[in-house]
Amino acid sequence: MKTFFNLIQEVQKPGLCHHCGGCVTFCTAINYGALELGDDGKPRYKEIEKCIECGLCYSICPEIHELEEETKRMVSWSAPMGRILGTTVARAADPEVLARGTDGGVVTALLLHLFDLGRIDGAIVSRRVGNFRRWPWLAVTRDEILEAAGFHFDTMHGMTHFSKVYSDMYSTFSPSVVELGEVTKKRLSRVAFVGTPCQINSLRRMEALGIVPAGSIKFHLGLFCTGNFHFGPKERARLEEVGNFHWDEVRKVNVKEELLIHLTNGQIRSLPLDHLNCMKRFACRYCDDYSAEFADLSFGGIGAPEGWTTVIARSPLGRAILADARGTDLEQFNFKDDPQLAHRALATVMEWSDKKKTHAQAMHRELEKSVQLKA
Ligand SMILES: Cc1cc2nc3c(=O)[nH]c(=O)nc-3n(C[C@H](O)[C@H](O)[C@H](O)COP(=O)(O)OP(=O)(O)OC[C@H]3O[C@@H](n4cnc5c(N)ncnc54)[C@H](O)[C@@H]3O)c2cc1C
Ligand code: SF4
Ligand code: SF4
Ligand code: SF4
Repeated sequence: MKTFFNLIQEVQKPGLCHHCGGCVTFCTAINYGALELGDDGKPRYKEIEKCIECGLCYSICPEIHELEEETKRMVSWSAPMGRILGTTVARAADPEVLARGTDGGVVTALLLHLFDLGRIDGAIVSRRVGNFRRWPWLAVTRDEILEAAGFHFDTMHGMTHFSKVYSDMYSTFSPSVVELGEVTKKRLSRVAFVGTPCQINSLRRMEALGIVPAGSIKFHLGLFCTGNFHFGPKERARLEEVGNFHWDEVRKVNVKEELLIHLTNGQIRSLPLDHLNCMKRFACRYCDDYSAEFADLSFGGIGAPEGWTTVIARSPLGRAILADARGTDLEQFNFKDDPQLAHRALATVMEWSDKKKTHAQAMHRELEKSVQLKA
């Protein structure tokens, strides 16, 4: 039976762990809590003697491909980038939600829609906890869901909790899967989850195994993802210089085809994502999922006009929520004005998805070569 020891050898040592937190969450929720997140955000043994060698942390890790075929079957995945039942461009009907949203505020509008209808008791989101700081959060009220709208560059998730070394580090990552523990503690059984493609993947593997907290996640809302970025004061200063702005005048940050820095004076600075390559988390260079292929609905800004969100429906459930919210909480783009917009948006997502897969394949080949050379 392969256990966390094998995850260290096969995933952590080659640098493939993207800190989704799945292994720690599962072990804590179901077993005796042999694992914890370390100072550097990586999972590690907390009390090795509590490990019962069940092997489940190994099976659910998105970097381990044991459950891949089963998970793909479960969500009716098909090439090249997962199941697609429809693509649309939309925005929140409520001006307050729209103003707070990263793009069109669609994720928040749908969460509020589900909450108001009594379809969910809460949602795992990621809220701001200070200037440029964000933390995963099980939101259980309307106001809490609304508070978590948007996307910011934030202090590295909880690193200030663990270590002063990381207190100056900024990151786009929020270990939302870890918040599943709260779902169990609060005994909620109908929760929506918002997260990056790797986090959705980890949840789906837990679901494929029939693991308890994952069964409480009824709606999987995935965000498109080029990568997560970690950066410190030096990189922040460089971005300020290249983009000609100061961080204290930044209202919102967004990643689309470029990094978009929205300033309080209404101006937007755009920086090519190449400038962020050196700040990209190492494991993200090996990731091949751009469009949250295992979600019920996937969301991103690319392909959509400013202030709108591109939405891909991937499951009948996702499609039904969209249809239900359309015309009340969601405003769909008027396609009479641009009949090809949804088609172009999907083509753009496919192009970025393909780019990410090609890059990940090349990186994996390099890694295999270096492993063979060392052997
Ligand atoms: C790390 C990251 C990288 C991204 N890269 C791209 C990209 O390359 N191209 C692209 O088109 N779109 C990207 N997105 C998605 C995009 O930023 C928007 O989240 C998406 O378009 C939805 O916008 P919205 O206005 O509809 O959502 P909103 O209504 O603003 O809701 C966003 C939801 O996401 C949650 N959230 C915010 N940050 C995080 C986080 N770090 N981890 C988990 N949940 C979070 C919020 O709590 C909120 O519930 C990325 C998102 C993230 C978090
Ligand atoms: S108890 Fe199971 S889930 Fe926890 S570390 Fe050991 S093998 Fe992994
Ligand atoms: S489950 Fe997630 S956090 Fe755990 S080893 Fe795998 S990638 Fe890393
Ligand atoms: S690129 Fe995005 S989805 Fe992939 S490992 Fe990094 S954070 Fe996760």
